[in-house]
Amino acid sequence: MKKSEKDEYDKTYGIFKYKRPLPSEIESAMGLVGESILFKKLISADYERFYDPIKIPEEGDWLMTHKEYGQTYNEYIQNDCVPVDPNHNVIYIHRFSSNDDLIKDELFQNVIILLEAFFTGMKVYLYDEGSGNYINNNENMLENTNENNIENNNENNNENNNNENNNENNNIENNNNDNNIENNNIQNNDNNENENKQLNESGEKMAINADQLLEKLKLEMPEDAYCLFGIIDNDLYTEALLPNGKRLIKATYGKRSVADRVSIFSLARFDPFFNFNGKIKNLSKEQRYKISLILLKRVCSAITREICYMFGMKNCTFMSCCMNGTNVAEFDNKQIELCPICLRKLITNIRANGEDIKNYRVKKPLIVYNRFVKMRDALENFSGLYENELKWFNARIDFLKTLI
Ligand SMILES: [Zn+2]
Repeated sequence: MKKSEKDEYDKTYGIFKYKRPLPSEIESAMGLVGESILFKKLISADYERFYDPIKIPEEGDWLMTHKEYGQTYNEYIQNDCVPVDPNHNVIYIHRFSSNDDLIKDELFQNVIILLEAFFTGMKVYLYDEGSGNYINNNENMLENTNENNIENNNENNNENNNNENNNENNNIENNNNDNNIENNNIQNNDNNENENKQLNESGEKMAINADQLLEKLKLEMPEDAYCLFGIIDNDLYTEALLPNGKRLIKATYGKRSVADRVSIFSLARFDPFFNFNGKIKNLSKEQRYKISLILLKRVCSAITREICYMFGMKNCTFMSCCMNGTNVAEFDNKQIELCPICLRKLITNIRANGEDIKNYRVKKPLIVYNRFVKMRDALENFSGLYENELKWFNARIDFLKTLI
């Protein structure tokens, strides 16, 4: 490396002096030693041509104000991985719906299809308020798309391997954007009578206590759940008692407990028309639809990332990746796909499926290729929202085809 290039990498950014990783650090973070040649190729071949380096942080970006430690593949499997196992391999989504859902059910089904592709090899079930059960409407459709895949991925099994870490409940990022809300701006939700009531008397959506909702979700966790992700249109808040006896109420995007593998997430602040007094009314059907598409894209980015956190994955500091730490302003430019390092973490965890992940080698590497195909197919459902991404997936698929 030339000195001028080296100097570029030595530059630091933000108050915590973030440094961009050297190409050698990126490769070592993938931790591909010992894997089959095909797996290495499918994860990393020509990665510099296909994957963007991490964006140089600018004023207002996440990395300028947040301390990030990064997480290599080896750090992931040694310290942070929350292993999938044959008895806990279903992703459950509980969507709390209301009469004027920000995203209509038929659009939301696309999110489920995307999740099935993103977390390929795992089942995804959506809560059905009518029956009170979790169901998978896409099973037939997914079976059909599987026919086009090169490999059928049904290997796996083995006993449990519980390795839970991260005991704390985390408020979901963007703390710097959280607003402290005066007590009187928020409807108190203390009594049980109000727990499930989502609208106030003037028909506006009430803010809901995120801690209470998270506790509720923990209780409804099905036995075979890998994780349970709750999503709600209402704004969320958390409440803390200060030493002086006063209550501090903070708005939040959501809350997660990695130890319990449960997360609750609010769409309210993702809505471009969000305000503290409820929804702006009288939008035309067309305007509402346009907004729901913007929201849909934001939801896809948020939900995939949140579930990756349940896998024990941390914010990515290596390449441009959907696991990069993000402020709200950066959200719409966020890519939907994982970088090779994060993809390697996800695929290996799903494939190990209860085997000792520290010594696990991916036996059917074509899962990587098949996942790209499924991702491409899933993104095609989003009526033009992912045109650039589709070009990327098609190019990656065409290139990998030549290596198989
Ligand atoms: Zn990454």
